[in-house]
Amino acid sequence: MPGTGEYDYLVTGGAGFIGSHLCEFFLDRGNSVLVLDDLSTGVISNLDGCVGRDGFGFVEGSVLDEPLTAELVHRSRGVVHLAAAVGVENIIRRPVETIETNVSGTETVLKAALNTGVPVFIASTSEIYGKSDCVPFREDGDIVLGATSRSRWSYACSKAMDEFLAFAYWKDKGLPVVVGRLFNTVGPRQSGRYGMVLPRFIAQARDGKPLTVFGDGRQTRCFSLVYEVVEAITSLINKPGAVGKVVNIGSTQEISILELARRVIRLSGSDSTIELIPYEKAYPGDFEDMLRRVPDVSLLKSLVGKVPEADIDEIIRKILEQRISGSAEKYGE
Ligand code: UDP
Repeated sequence: MPGTGEYDYLVTGGAGFIGSHLCEFFLDRGNSVLVLDDLSTGVISNLDGCVGRDGFGFVEGSVLDEPLTAELVHRSRGVVHLAAAVGVENIIRRPVETIETNVSGTETVLKAALNTGVPVFIASTSEIYGKSDCVPFREDGDIVLGATSRSRWSYACSKAMDEFLAFAYWKDKGLPVVVGRLFNTVGPRQSGRYGMVLPRFIAQARDGKPLTVFGDGRQTRCFSLVYEVVEAITSLINKPGAVGKVVNIGSTQEISILELARRVIRLSGSDSTIELIPYEKAYPGDFEDMLRRVPDVSLLKSLVGKVPEADIDEIIRKILEQRISGSAEKYGE
């Protein structure tokens, strides 16, 4: 059944950090965008750059609402599904919501998309690789998760289920689906409220408080700037070679969390100190962290010709600039 196709894209979770940048990108490019967001972790002020512009629509609601999701998918020619439970801290504190939102939400979106056959991009996560030590992580590598008694892994498992569902809809029913595994994505507007490390460090440095480095700070991550991630998503959604594939989206520039804290202090000119906090004090229960997380981005590069490459100093500077011009409330702190 053909949809009405009033909007070029439906973005679920469009009021979130990544979603709102994606919507701005689409509008700037001349695409129309409809957002579905329940404002659970997203905030409406993230969409200040979109509301009132031609071709922009916003609906407050949940991807768990089947009739609503079906109606909005029907009105769109493509779907970017970002709505999900996010943030390690949030996930550990709300395991039921995490599993329900991630698994049932994705199923609802895929079912709705099947009615009209529109292309779907599903956002997945580097959490999927879990404790694997096959660094850099390749999309076809094994995933290594911890015990089901540890809530952290419910996030990775729920997202793995999303990926299985997406591939099942592609293989079984021919729905054109692309899955992107997003690595640590950062940039202006990201809130530290749900545990993300860089916005936290930046807020701590600004307030002259100690930067809270968990564990010994030797764990590493690769941070990519949200604008480059958004570009990768928009390139993949219409790339015939990407259909039915899972693609890593991230930077390969690895940095330890301790070094990240030092850079934030140096670049912000703050006189904050660094405080090492044992994991058992930082997170409730038996927490397991990943020591290294680095993507293999050769598939992304071969599909879209470029990969995120902004370096960490440039990223920190961009966020600091935005902090000076915007208020703390705007960033959800
Ligand atoms: N982390 C930290 N201090 C904080 C928040 C996080 O040292 O205030 C650490 C966290 O334990 C992890 C890394 O920073 O090793 C990245 O955490 P985040 O939650 O941003 O993302 P993750 O990669 O764990 O999903």
